Amino acid sequence: MDSRRAFYIGRFQPYHLGHQNVLESIAQEVDEIIIGIGSAQASHEPDDLFTAGERVLMMTDALETLGVKHYIIPIEDIRRNSVWVSHVISMTPPFKVVYSNNPLVIRLFEEAGFEVRQSPLFKRERYSGTEIRRRMLDGEEWESLVPTSTAEVIREIGGVGRLKIVSSGDSV
Ligand code: NAD
Repeated sequence: MDSRRAFYIGRFQPYHLGHQNVLESIAQEVDEIIIGIGSAQASHEPDDLFTAGERVLMMTDALETLGVKHYIIPIEDIRRNSVWVSHVISMTPPFKVVYSNNPLVIRLFEEAGFEVRQSPLFKRERYSGTEIRRRMLDGEEWESLVPTSTAEVIREIGGVGRLKIVSSGDSV
């Protein structure tokens, strides 16, 4: 059964329509998806703005349409890449297939003997966390790049204000 259960990890800073598109295409190929929220310990930094809990909120409503069973699991970083796959395995239901485009993630799972499938990129220059955070900082429109649930969470927590503060010169 675990051969039909796939693992997909991202930082989701924030969760955007590129991620949603990838998950929709993975859902066509497997029965269950484990979604790892990477760098779960990080928040309130210019590149890692949202807490793991906020990222869970962004994804939950958007994933209702996925049509396959899924599990959202926050996973903290560890300082040793060589044992990171074991760390992931210790936190997740069993799986055999990994979907990723991140070269380090691909390499570490391949070395550990997993089947890794590359997911197609969906308008990467437009649908990227870096581009969305840039637009927020520059006061440009960003809502069309994310699911409604992500936009609602960012509004609710004052995400744009948070980004401006943590990106200002005097932040720690
Ligand atoms: P991300 O949110 O940038 O991307 C997640 C996935 O979505 C990636 O495969 C990416 O290629 C894909 N993606 C992004 N935009 C897309 C688009 N427009 N179309 C299609 N696909 C798109 O997250 P990430 O940085 O890849 O996440 C990896 C996580 O694993 C990080 O949190 C990292 O810290 C963690 N990690 C930790 C260790 C360690 O702790 N030692 C080691 C390896 C990885």
